[in-house]
Order: sequence, then C-alpha cells, then structure tokens
Amino acid sequence: MTIVTGVTVRVPAKLNLQLAVGPPRADGYHDLVTVFHAVSLFDEITAEPARRDGVSVSGEGADRVPADGDNLALRAVSALRAEMPSAPGVHVTIAKRIPVAAGLAGGSGDAAAALVACNELWAGGFGPPQLAEIAARVGSDVAFALLGGTAVGRGRGEQLTPALAPATQYHWVLAFADGHLSTPEVYAALDRQRAREQVPAEPGLDPALMSALRSGDARLVGRALSNDLQPAALSLFPALRKTLAAGLELGALGALVSGSGPTCVFLAASADRALDLAASLSGAGVCRSVARASGPAPGAAIISGAR
Ligand code: ATP
Repeated sequence: MTIVTGVTVRVPAKLNLQLAVGPPRADGYHDLVTVFHAVSLFDEITAEPARRDGVSVSGEGADRVPADGDNLALRAVSALRAEMPSAPGVHVTIAKRIPVAAGLAGGSGDAAAALVACNELWAGGFGPPQLAEIAARVGSDVAFALLGGTAVGRGRGEQLTPALAPATQYHWVLAFADGHLSTPEVYAALDRQRAREQVPAEPGLDPALMSALRSGDARLVGRALSNDLQPAALSLFPALRKTLAAGLELGALGALVSGSGPTCVFLAASADRALDLAASLSGAGVCRSVARASGPAPGAAIISGAR
C-alpha cells in the first residue's frame, strides 16, 4: 500500500476571450456565454492530513485571502467531504501567484486544486465528470479550472464544452492593476448601465472568435476578443482605459479587461513580441506590474504526491 503524506496540485489562471452576459435571472445570477482560456500563471496548493481542516496562504495578495472556512479551497474540501463523510481532516497550503480579485479566477482555481488534491489524498476515486459536478456546487468558474485549455462555458459558466482548435500557443501579457474590483459590484454596475439602455438579448457565442480559434491565427483572435463587463469595469476603474490604450499603441493584437477586471490582458504575435510588450508596458507606468503567460494551459494537475 502506498502512503501519501501530501499532494501538491498546480492550477492555472483563466482569461475570458469572450464574455457575453445576459439579463439578471430570478436568482440574481446572469446567464453567460463565455470562452474560457487557461494561461500559464499558476497557484500551487498542497493538501496534507491534519487533525482538523485548516488553510494557510502565502504569496501574491495573501493578506486579502480568508484563512478560514470562507476560503474557497476549504469550501471545496467540505463539498468533497459531503460525498465522503468519513474523510479525515486536511490542511491546505496555498502558494498564490494569481493576484486576488483580479478577474483571473484564482480563488476558483484554488478550489479546483483542493478537489483534485483531496480526491488523491483520500483515494476518493472520483472521475472528471463527478469532480466537475462537485466543482459546480462550489462556484461558477471552478469546473473550468479542472478542465483547463480553451472551452465554451454556458449557464453560470459551469456547463462546459472544450473548444476544438489547433494546438496553437497564444502569448499573453497581463497588466496587473494597482487596485481591485469586486465581481458582484461590476455586475451591479453593468445592470445599472443596462437599465438606461434597452434590455439585452440572450447572450450568444461569437462566430468570429470561434472561427479565429479554429484558424489558430492570433491576429484574428486578437480582433475578436470581447467582454460585456468591460464598460462596467472601466466605469468603476477609469485608469484601465489608459492601460488598454497603451498596450494597443505598443502593438498588441488585441486588448481587453479580464473577466470582471481589473487585470488587462494583451495578445502578442509571438513570445518575443510578448517580451517586448511586457517591458514597454512596465516602463509606461500604466499598471502595478506585468507578467507574461501562454495559453491554453492544462487544468488542475497533480505535480507531486501522486499514489
Ligand atoms: P472571479 O472568479 O469572480 O473572476 P476574481 O478572479 O476576480 O474572481 P478571486 O481572486 O477568485 O477573484 O477572489 C475573489 C474573492 O474571493 C476575494 O475577495 C477573496 O477574498 C475570496 N477568496 C476566497 N478564497 C480565496 C482563495 N483561495 N484565493 C483567492 N481569493 C479567495
């Protein structure tokens, strides 16, 4: 018998290449059609046996992450334990590189990573479909963090279909903002903006983006990026306009606010162009810091401690 003392899982950040938002539903959520894209900016979480459940967090933005049962990783542990009531206690250690409340779904990623790690630690034997179902109960973006790659999300984002596309790697520059945006506040700003306009139609998948992804042509993908939340994010965080404009002036193929923001993402034509763009953007003083990442990246995966 193999004894596993700790399992470490790496989980990617996500971008939304398209985020189409429908009108608010009776339960307060919005129906979405989105194209998720996982990128190579990773959090790492380790699950180890412990007398009782706990969590510790270090790294980027750790002071803004709850270190109790509100942590999304511990919520995921509880959701998995509901399926395995005799599972023992676990301590989860999170090393964050994905900035917090940045529109990159780091919290959802940590939840997905905790599911994968505890499933291994407890020999749960749950396969991807069962884990995806548990993930959807924890949060809207958690199931995608399990899957990774590029995928269309519907409903609240939890109904996923992998996008069929050639094995193109896209080169991104991420500009992290000096500040944060709360996802519910951005949706509320969108609802206020829309109350002054006509009622939005049901959201639909953008055929131009899907055909760009099938072609693997970064230029076409750059032109087809879209985010219905962007005007709302810009209204709450006007400085992002400058960041987006600077990236486009510096030659990005496309630019958009990631999810609910405030991270701005830029598509570059090659790894070298991404390097140049990252250097110029950080010199332009239009963001707190920059990072480069490529996508699509794999979903939550065990990197050590597998049995
Ligand atoms: P979204 O998934 O809505 O795009 P986001 O990427 O903007 O969210 P997250 O970094 O996921 O933001 O954090 C959203 C909130 O969740 C934060 O306010 C944070 O305090 C809380 N949170 C709970 N657990 C975690 C976690 N493990 N990592 C990061 N944030 C967490």
